[in-house]
Parts: sequence; structure tokens; C-alpha cells
Amino acid sequence: MAYDNQNIFAKILRGEIPCTKVHETDHSLSFQDINPQAKVHVLVIPKGGYVSMDDFSANAPAAEQADYVAAIGATARELGVDKTGYRILANHGHHSHQEVPHLHTHILAGEPLGPMLEGGDLPPGVDYVRKARRHSPAISVTGKPRPSPTT
Ligand code: AMP
Repeated sequence: MAYDNQNIFAKILRGEIPCTKVHETDHSLSFQDINPQAKVHVLVIPKGGYVSMDDFSANAPAAEQADYVAAIGATARELGVDKTGYRILANHGHHSHQEVPHLHTHILAGEPLGPMLEGGDLPPGVDYVRKARRHSPAISVTGKPRPSPTT
């Protein structure tokens, strides 16, 4: 897929629409997700125009790739979630439900996040089902059928 510079994150990078900035480096920008799926939900994007991790990992210069990985870690430390834990997630393409065609890594944190994927094992005694369903638009990639409520 060719990069479309009219996507919403390209507009944020050009300053055409606002964002709540968390961290910035020469090649990367971190900002609050507009529709948080956890108490802490921040996106980290490269400043270069890359559709997804597939495009970025194949085509970005090494300095931009190194900057991006470092920016994700630095953003998490800036948020203070390195102590309590966090999940990073980057959707690529149709099966992952990627919505914005500019590479972004989600940092999700601030509370127990539940199973990594919809349909994953649930630790006993914890109400993770509700959270898994709340998170499922961002994290469901299994295609595994949900158990029917009657079985
Ligand atoms: P994905 O499904 O991985 O492509 O995730 C896209 C993410 O971008 C979602 O979590 C949206 O809430 C988020 N998003 C969309 N528009 C904005 C915006 N203007 N500012 C911040 N986050 C946004």
C-alpha cells in the first residue's frame, strides 16, 4: 500500500490538527490516544511517512528505526509505567484492524490489561472478560470463535 499523506497522523505531524504530546525525538512523536482503551493509552509514531511496521522495518533507515524503538521505551518511562508494566501493540493491515495507515505503536498501561487476545485464558477470580471485550477492537486478531453464552 502506498503511503497517503492525508491520513490523520500525517496531519498531526504537520500541525494541521492538535494532539496532546507526551514525548518527542528527532524522528518520533508520542501523544495521547483520542479514544483511550486503558487508563494510559499513548501512541508512538515515526515522523517519516510509513504505512505500518511492515513498511517501516523494510524501508526506514537504521537511525530512524533505532530512534523509534528508543522513543517507545522513553515514552513509557516518561509516563512512569515502566514500574507497573505496559503492553505495546502495533497493528498492520486488514486482519489486525489497522485503522490509521501511518505506523503507530500503542502503549497501554495503568491497570491490569487482561488477556493479550480475545479468547485468551482468563486468570481465575478476575473480571477480565469485560475488559477483554472493551479492548477487543484494538487487540483481537485471532479470528477464534467466542464461546456461546449457552455452552
Ligand atoms: P489502529 O486501530 O491500531 O489503527 O489504531 C488507531 C488509533 O488511533 C485508535 O486507538 C484511535 O483512537 C487513534 N486516533 C485516531 N485519531 C486520533 C487523533 N486525532 N488523535 C489521537 N489518536 C487518534
